[in-house]
Amino acid sequence: MIEVKQLTKEFSIAKNKKLTVLNDVNLVIEDGDIFGIIGMSGAGKSTFIRCLNLLERPTRGSILIEGVDITKKKGRELLSLRKQIGMIFQNFNLLMQKNVSKNIAFGLEITRVKDYKIPGISDEDYKKLGFFKKRSLKKKEIGRRVDELLKLVDLEEKKYEYPSKLSGGQRQRVAIARALATNPSILLCDEATSALDSRTTESILKLLKRINEETKVTIIMITHEMNVVQKICNKVAVLDKSEIVASGYTREVFSDTSSEIVAQLLGGGE
Ligand code: ADP
Ligand code: MG
Repeated sequence: MIEVKQLTKEFSIAKNKKLTVLNDVNLVIEDGDIFGIIGMSGAGKSTFIRCLNLLERPTRGSILIEGVDITKKKGRELLSLRKQIGMIFQNFNLLMQKNVSKNIAFGLEITRVKDYKIPGISDEDYKKLGFFKKRSLKKKEIGRRVDELLKLVDLEEKKYEYPSKLSGGQRQRVAIARALATNPSILLCDEATSALDSRTTESILKLLKRINEETKVTIIMITHEMNVVQKICNKVAVLDKSEIVASGYTREVFSDTSSEIVAQLLGGGE
């Protein structure tokens, strides 16, 4: 279970000037949930999800995972915590110079920061995410795990292909496999389907749902697309201008016609 209590995040944007991006956010996410967080662009969704794995340090408040406040964690403890949290992105962020198998093994191998330049995510973030850590797995074990993951995301025949030869949906499958390599208990998805057409979106959502059922991984889906939430999220929170304005079971939240922001999001036709 993840409990977010009175989470506030401020960025200082100029001398003596602060921007409050998350304001007193309270949320409970149960194990095995597919939890949607929806809101307009600029609402603070990405900042929220980045706080969950401490890519951003909260200004105030606490984040409890299985009762332990992670906001206090540092060093080795923080790294082992991040191993339990996988993340995928809108633009997949694959290593273009590595084949599918190597991309998936990335999180399991001994790697050096300077070998990789990843678009859309800084070396610093990758280091924080624990990708550049000495792993204890043997080559054979890594190979076995990669094959398992390829099977899970249904990409066995693309094992030695390079990302440039893959479709968007296939690239996101590789990213999902990579994120799950260390067997995390939480998968964070930041606009994971926003770069995909509707048919491909559907197949990725189906895959995530199947993975959630098979592995019991808790999935947190950040999106501005209403239909994504409607399709797979059992629960949802609506983030508007730094605050949670509604949360609960998806059907109930979306049927609340008195909520202006829900009406706006539904009316957006997305
Ligand atoms: P969303 O993902 O919902 O579109 P974000 O969390 O990316 O929203 O951003 C929310 C607000 O926080 C925006 O106004 C954005 O400009 C600001 N913001 C995000 N990251 C930073 C940062 N590192 N420094 C200053 N402002 C930031
Ligand atoms: Mg965002």
